[in-house]
Amino acid sequence: MTAFNLQNGLLHAENVALRTIAQTHQTPTYVYSKAALTQTFARFQSGLLGHDHLICFAVKANPSLAILNLFARLGAGFDIVSGGELARVIAAGGDPKKVVFSGVGKSHAEIRAALEAGIFCFNVESANELQRIQQVAAEMGKTAPVSLRVNPNVDAKTHPYISTGLKNNKFGVAFEDALDLYKQAAQMPNIAVHGIDCHIGSQITELSPFQDALDKVLGLVDALAAENIHIQHIDVGGGVGITYDDETPPDFGTYTAAIMQKLSGRGVKVLFEPGRALVGNAGVLLTKVEYLKPGETKNFAIVDAAMNDLMRPALYDAYHNITTIAPSTAATQTYEVVGPVCESGDFLGHDRALAIEEGDYLAIHSAGAYGMSMASNYNTRARAAEVLVDGDQAHVIREREQITDLFKLERTLP
Ligand SMILES: *Cc1c(COP(=O)(O)O)cnc(C)c1O
Repeated sequence: MTAFNLQNGLLHAENVALRTIAQTHQTPTYVYSKAALTQTFARFQSGLLGHDHLICFAVKANPSLAILNLFARLGAGFDIVSGGELARVIAAGGDPKKVVFSGVGKSHAEIRAALEAGIFCFNVESANELQRIQQVAAEMGKTAPVSLRVNPNVDAKTHPYISTGLKNNKFGVAFEDALDLYKQAAQMPNIAVHGIDCHIGSQITELSPFQDALDKVLGLVDALAAENIHIQHIDVGGGVGITYDDETPPDFGTYTAAIMQKLSGRGVKVLFEPGRALVGNAGVLLTKVEYLKPGETKNFAIVDAAMNDLMRPALYDAYHNITTIAPSTAATQTYEVVGPVCESGDFLGHDRALAIEEGDYLAIHSAGAYGMSMASNYNTRARAAEVLVDGDQAHVIREREQITDLFKLERTLP
């Protein structure tokens, strides 16, 4: 079954009409398909069966407990970037022993929590972080498993905001410094060097940046072996792109084959950290047309979802396909699809041909990654509800926030 499909002219998630979800749960609402999530995970994994591997879903792409739980049941590990994400993984039934901890700013408390939980590995992003992990591990009488996240200085050829593997990015240890830092790590009493890690960016649609990065990493692995530092796992990061519009990212089989070919004969475990690729096309954001506002040069469709619900268009000028979810007799016109937030950057799509009337619903596609996870309460807007469809069942996995939730932690002066 295709996750999002037309039945009698109505767009469905599996066997539930999106219109029914919109009417039952109101809008804006994120809708995910369990079949899409499950099938996408299986497709990613299919090229890895028979190899020692761990797929660590990048939690920040979609931290919903229900989705983490689903991936945990499929055997996934998790790539986390905060103590909060670790708590979510544990609350969702994920196995801490399959967790890798990335991020440039790990606090004492976060390192402590990760050691307490017994995570698989820290992906260390600086010399000072390595010192801090050593110190915290010593205080706790534990040994911390680490990889260095090396920065291979490879251009991921993606949007500058989501490119992370260039020299001038804040991420990772400079390639030139990595060997020295590994030697220091190998001497630290409470550090165990386990692996090497690299993550060069997101929404990457070409194979070559991944291959170039891995070549550099493997060069380093060999240099380390010559120093008697033996790497047990190679974490190739995430970053595989998806089709939002007309992009043609490498399919999973081609991608994993290219990686595995370079690793053949090395006898190392391989880790992947996909986020977007596992969830992006498994979700849509449902929204209602509040007003049509014709203008001299532009027609606006003002919808009830906004940049606070889906930030990617405002943040990266990102494209999301926008469609109706039911047949319409309205005339097709070109619209700026915008939200109610008081910012000119609050748009969801430019120049979209849509046959719509006020009160109609729209689906904003490919919204499963970096959608709800980046949502905010800007303009004191309650965050959207989330629904996970399984066959003919629509399960609410996160209730719509209530306005009173938004200020319940606030106090006025006495
Ligand atoms: C964000 C991130 C990922 C996931 O990136 P995607 O493009 O969503 O696959 C993986 N690893 C690290 C370290 C990240 O920061």
